[in-house]
Amino acid sequence: MLRSLFRGTSRDFLEWLLPSECLLCRAATESNPDNVPPTICIDCLEIVNPPEMVPCRNCGASLGPHADPSGKCPHCRGRRFCFKSVTCLAMYEGALQTLLLKGKWSSSSNNIRTLAKVFVDVRTGQLRSLNIDRIIPIPQIWHRRIMRNFNPAALFASEIGQSLKKPVDVNILRRSRGTQLQKRASVSNRRASQRNSFRIRDSHIVYGKRILLVDDVLTTGATCDEAVRMLTQAGVKQCHVAVLIRVPGHAA
Ligand SMILES: [Zn+2]
Ligand SMILES: [Zn+2]
Repeated sequence: MLRSLFRGTSRDFLEWLLPSECLLCRAATESNPDNVPPTICIDCLEIVNPPEMVPCRNCGASLGPHADPSGKCPHCRGRRFCFKSVTCLAMYEGALQTLLLKGKWSSSSNNIRTLAKVFVDVRTGQLRSLNIDRIIPIPQIWHRRIMRNFNPAALFASEIGQSLKKPVDVNILRRSRGTQLQKRASVSNRRASQRNSFRIRDSHIVYGKRILLVDDVLTTGATCDEAVRMLTQAGVKQCHVAVLIRVPGHAA
């Protein structure tokens, strides 16, 4: 928090004067022995990346130590997604859950930006290996656009775009209509409510490209799946998904 006292001071001078702070818990990160990215301390990195857990490549859920990440996990068994893989920062629990919930409904974009910066530091290597050409955020439903002054997915996509040095297209994927709020809907209801809820503009820009589709949360995967279905119809070669948080136990 010391940094806020020096707001306006040059960044280089601050780096010299003050140790780096973990974006999640504000602990100093200067004494980190493993050259871990300075946005996050080693304790928080273990929460985000539990050493004994592996992520499911199909749906992003954290799996136990002996699970096969390329097979279908309990959270996505029986589901066939149009996207090729999911890269997520962490599961929906603890401090990250609180940060996300506060960030989603706050008028300030600070919390979402913090999570996006941590994602970029921790997961950029994984994203680079996907060789994507362009990045597309999931657009907001119109009534959410009125309630919020920013789109968390677009903010997140822009952080990834800067890090990967890839273009972010915010106008290609459009909502063709509102969808019912999905909080308590069943998987089949969620999928039905998403059917044809997107349309594509300027499809020549994405034709034959590898796309990273970006959203803040993945629950059943129905929203991303429908967006990818539409993008594939428009000629996209391959789609991968990046999300900040995976809500487990709902994709089956
Ligand atoms: Zn920390
Ligand atoms: Zn899975």
